[in-house]
Amino acid sequence: MNAICPHCKGKLSLSSVLRDKDVKDGAIETMYACPHCKAVLGFSFMG
Ligand SMILES: [Zn+2]
Repeated sequence: MNAICPHCKGKLSLSSVLRDKDVKDGAIETMYACPHCKAVLGFSFMG
């Protein structure tokens, strides 16, 4: 992932983006957040 945060225009990369894992109904939900302004960028689900 190479992107710009839509909130603070900070640079995002796979190594710098914040991840927060949660388990919901047996599926792993990962929340991605901007390391600069902490804005939530999106979610992904695995399971
Ligand atoms: Zn940001």
